[in-house]
Amino acid sequence: MYRGEIAGLRGHLAPEHAVDVLDAGGRRLGRGFYNPRTSLACRILARGDEVVDVALFRRRLEAALSFRRSAGLLAGAYRLCWSEADGLPGLVLDRYADTTVLQCGTLGMARRAGWAAEALDALFPGGAVLRSDDATAARIEGFEPERAWLRAPRPEAPAAPGPAELPPGPTPPEARGSTAPDASPPPVIEREIAEGGCRFRVRVGGGQKTGFYLDQRENRLLVAAHAAGRRVLDAFCYTGAFACQALRAGADRALLVDSSAEALMLARENLDLNGSAGRAELREGNAFDVLRALHSGGERFGLAVVDPPPFTRRKDAIEAAARGYKDINLRALRLVERGGLLATFSCSHHVTPALFEEICRAAAGDAGVATRIRAVLGQSGDHPVLLNVPETRYLTGLLLEVL
Ligand code: SAH
Repeated sequence: MYRGEIAGLRGHLAPEHAVDVLDAGGRRLGRGFYNPRTSLACRILARGDEVVDVALFRRRLEAALSFRRSAGLLAGAYRLCWSEADGLPGLVLDRYADTTVLQCGTLGMARRAGWAAEALDALFPGGAVLRSDDATAARIEGFEPERAWLRAPRPEAPAAPGPAELPPGPTPPEARGSTAPDASPPPVIEREIAEGGCRFRVRVGGGQKTGFYLDQRENRLLVAAHAAGRRVLDAFCYTGAFACQALRAGADRALLVDSSAEALMLARENLDLNGSAGRAELREGNAFDVLRALHSGGERFGLAVVDPPPFTRRKDAIEAAARGYKDINLRALRLVERGGLLATFSCSHHVTPALFEEICRAAAGDAGVATRIRAVLGQSGDHPVLLNVPETRYLTGLLLEVL
């Protein structure tokens, strides 16, 4: 509920207590966490008479797991809980083998992280839980972001599925099971995950997101299916997941571009891990500049991937963001040979699929190329979208063929 939708407030409103939400006639609509400082003022957790307690968290997580199981979405790494889309606003849970990363994005959820950890215990007894809050969300919502083990990894923990598992990096000093956060082992752990035949080393709880861009899993496989025999450009590559998948699927060569030296170091490791390093070149730099230089140098690619960070998180900055998307796509389209493909994405919440399409149309117009839409892309199925909560959709993309 946005602040403007609230007619009045009554009683003592503590962030850790769910407040009753009443309609104009005094009937209870549900219950939610209230935050006095944000425009998204109340996050509804329960409808009607449902009580907000640890049992509700457990029911929600059971439903989340069961949906993913029946939809075939369980994998070596996957998102178990996606905030409102799984009925737990402000809670993100990503599973990496035996470790869950718990990320709080609202004040109310930050105060109830203990319930989330308890509910996880019931689903995955003995599993490690790492809390790693998003700093931007924490600043907006007004809480201190935490990075700590809520359930420390056990040194003797059997590696989760299969031989792909790495031994836990840090040696945790004590047995898990206490509910007190244990900050002694560094709140980062290395895990190796499998994705469609590729292997990736993930610094769980480190780097960006919760360590890996799980939301692009399906798109990476879809794009890789077009990679055979082509030269690939992976712009904004982070740890090189698109390039690794494309090379595994038979791409000739790949050029990976990112502005972060640390990301490229991990990308190099992942290329090695998949036996593809010999066919890959890594370039550190601003993708806008690198793509322009490639064009001046007469370089061409059969498949380009453009997966930038969000250019805006705010609605009022959407015009500047749109210019950025148009510019980077214009530069990318100039590099794609005829018959080649561009997979392009926006993860800015306020850039809708329709707006993104309009931006790409303008970019193609300026680049002077005709393109065919081969696929309309979105976030992977373990990041579900609720029709009546459009905010649950943030990733949009297009697979374009240059004619
Ligand atoms: N495609 C990746 C995720 C990309 S995340 C995957 O599938 O895992 C976006 C990446 O863009 C980050 O690694 C960030 O370091 C990088 N980045 C941000 N601004 C950039 C810029 N101007 N030029 C190049 N890379 C940039």
